[in-house]
Amino acid sequence: MSSHDTELSPAARARRRALASLARLAGTSAALPLVASFAPTTAFAQTAAPATPGPPPRPAPQPGTRVVMLGTHGGPGIERDRAETSSAVVVDGVPYLVDCGYGSLRQLVLSTIGYQQLDAIFFTHLHDDHTSDLPALLSHQWTGGTKKTPTEIYGPNGTARLVDAALGFLRINAEIRTVDEGRTIDPATLFHGHDVAASATPTRVLADERVTVTAVESAHYPQHSTEKMSHRALSYRFDTKERSVVFTGDTAYSENIVGLAKGVDLFVCEVMAQSVYDANVARAKEAEAAGNPLSIARHVAETHATPADVGRMAAKAKVKTVVLYHLLPGARAPGGLDYAITNFTDGVRAAGFAGEVIVSQDLMVL
Ligand SMILES: [Zn+2]
Ligand SMILES: [Zn+2]
Repeated sequence: MSSHDTELSPAARARRRALASLARLAGTSAALPLVASFAPTTAFAQTAAPATPGPPPRPAPQPGTRVVMLGTHGGPGIERDRAETSSAVVVDGVPYLVDCGYGSLRQLVLSTIGYQQLDAIFFTHLHDDHTSDLPALLSHQWTGGTKKTPTEIYGPNGTARLVDAALGFLRINAEIRTVDEGRTIDPATLFHGHDVAASATPTRVLADERVTVTAVESAHYPQHSTEKMSHRALSYRFDTKERSVVFTGDTAYSENIVGLAKGVDLFVCEVMAQSVYDANVARAKEAEAAGNPLSIARHVAETHATPADVGRMAAKAKVKTVVLYHLLPGARAPGGLDYAITNFTDGVRAAGFAGEVIVSQDLMVL
């Protein structure tokens, strides 16, 4: 077997697993749903009197812990094959969402998780490629009308303000439907934002009967920026009774993340191809020479992880499996194939990580 074949085989395995997972989720009568309930979510469906008995009750959800890669696109941008960043951890049928970039709501439906019964959302940071679908999600949860339990939204400083802004978005819709449809639930009672302090060592964000969630500050905002703003970025770890998962969100190399990810089963880590890093360093130099030291190119180069950065973190933390997401380049170049997996996997391995490396795709179930 050539070294090239060796590099391809884990991703080929991952693809096969993803396809098998999707096949399992494709709606055969024998398939178990990912979540505990999957009620119709349109107002019409709720208000129309059923003329005939409804569908048979769905079977109990799959037990265990699964990670669903909902959106794996890197950075802000809309493309056909990948949604902006979003992932879910589903524990014994109960979903927890990490990030909610554009397209997440539709991906939640396609994955069969749905969005009506989602009660916990965690933001790694508040860039719009991680938050854009929040107003749509909360608004449709309210309009769906079947949600009885609140949705708690956690994230770095600014999250409570973001949730208030989303409430502002949906308030007019609520005013209309309250008058016109006799709605009684005040949206403010359903949606709560929580600012989580950023720290170097893992701090607890949430603990319930299924999962403990801890967080550290990641390395997505450089010091020259954090000195001038209160915004921070976080990485999360989920520990359930059978699995542990870290989502880095956007980050450069971070010792905080190494501490968070010690021995974790799945290390879901962002990645920027080395060629993207090199191109952005060159563009940043040009911008600086032209009088703009704070260019987008400098931001990209300084605040994301090269494959070598990923490999160093994974090896030092002794994680079991690396899952790459938030793939940069984030959109296909015209006529080009930017997602050759060796663009991402070669550097991870060269940096000393010897375990399995999976380049994720949208709707992959792990
Ligand atoms: Zn991002
Ligand atoms: Zn970002």
